[in-house]
Amino acid sequence: MIVELVNTGTELMLGRTLNTHQQWICRQLADAGRVVSRQVAVPDTAEAIRHSVRESLSRADLVITTGGLGPTSDDVTREFIAAMLGRPLREDLETFARIHHYFAARQRAEPPHAQVQAMVPEGAIVLPNSCGTAPGLAIEVDPNPFRPGGAKSWLVMLPGPPRELRPMFRESLIPLLNRVMPVDEPFVCRTLRATGIGESQLEQAVAPGLKRCVDAGLELGYCARIGQVDVRLAARGSEAGTVVAEADKIVRSCIGTHIYGEGEEEIEETIVRVLTARKETLGLAESCTGGCLANRITNVPGASQVLPAGWVTYSNEAKQLCLGVKSESLDRFGAVSEEVAREMAEGARVKAGSTYGIGITGIAGPGGGSPEKPVGTVFVGVAGPFPTLVRRYLNPFDRETFKQVTSQQAMDLLRRALQGADTAG
Ligand code: ATP
Ligand code: MG
Repeated sequence: MIVELVNTGTELMLGRTLNTHQQWICRQLADAGRVVSRQVAVPDTAEAIRHSVRESLSRADLVITTGGLGPTSDDVTREFIAAMLGRPLREDLETFARIHHYFAARQRAEPPHAQVQAMVPEGAIVLPNSCGTAPGLAIEVDPNPFRPGGAKSWLVMLPGPPRELRPMFRESLIPLLNRVMPVDEPFVCRTLRATGIGESQLEQAVAPGLKRCVDAGLELGYCARIGQVDVRLAARGSEAGTVVAEADKIVRSCIGTHIYGEGEEEIEETIVRVLTARKETLGLAESCTGGCLANRITNVPGASQVLPAGWVTYSNEAKQLCLGVKSESLDRFGAVSEEVAREMAEGARVKAGSTYGIGITGIAGPGGGSPEKPVGTVFVGVAGPFPTLVRRYLNPFDRETFKQVTSQQAMDLLRRALQGADTAG
């Protein structure tokens, strides 16, 4: 099956918006056994949209476009494609009512052109938008006038905003594709997410053990991201389930303690999930991460159940005042030290009245380093109903990356403490 993706949006060509749909959609499709063979981004002009869609329709069984379904004058994808396929736009009453309801429910006046979004090309399937107004549209182009022999294709138009596109993709498009164009053979895909280990080190640890699975058809992939590596295990055919299950077992036996979750789970989601299940709580004391850890944890729905309080204590005075860090410790060891990380973690735990406390202190740079404590040095403490753990890391990155990596390490240290996996040494 040939799948092509056309991302429309002048803002993409101007570099004002990062084309996250390219990555996200390719990933969703690949994990469902459908690999995108070509992707283009084009501006919102009639010429560019018509040209790219026509070209994709001349080859692909499935063409997905993104963007340009909204009510403003630059939202032209629907009109251009409908015209190109010779499908007149007709008002869809259900969509009309949904849009009306969307604004009424938010007590907002309906913008003048909102209802153009209820105009649907003749014969199109409407993919409802649960987070916005413009529905997605799926059209069976049969016969397909742009393809040799007229072989049929499906053309799917999705809205631009990621928060609208993603739920629609999962809730409506995947079920539709499974119905109208099922993958030709069984496909199984699993992603294991590892942290605290580099990509090469991970590969060295797992590759020899996985050789026989690869020989049996396992597709093995590694994807390194900030502070984490994803291991993708996939297989096709009647034995796919067995091959992936076997590979999963081998990876876990080689690097089990590094795996924090599966699929798309972020480590902050793991932390909130585990703490919620255990009815336990966490207090945070951050210095150089500036609240990044609190931000990540509070991005997870249900965080209020596990996070009573967090502090960003940048100065020595704040560390003493808010967390009870001792002035002797600051004088003797310095603010960036094992002792201060320990006292911050313990202070956060006491002041928040929580089961666990995390303390983070370090030198984000670019200034402030010394030979003993170079830029990037960071101490993370985890306090709980056990002797406080403190680890030293070296993260000599730009400040943004530093915060991401450090908050990741802090959550990983807590995760390991929760699993009792890292309480020794
Ligand atoms: P709207 O009703 O919001 O106008 P739309 O379907 O018309 O939706 P666009 O106008 O093309 O979509 O894009 C709306 C917003 O969605 C953009 O400003 C951008 O923030 C985001 N967006 C669009 N395309 C992409 C993309 N490829 N990657 C990431 N974000 C995107
Ligand atoms: Mg728009």
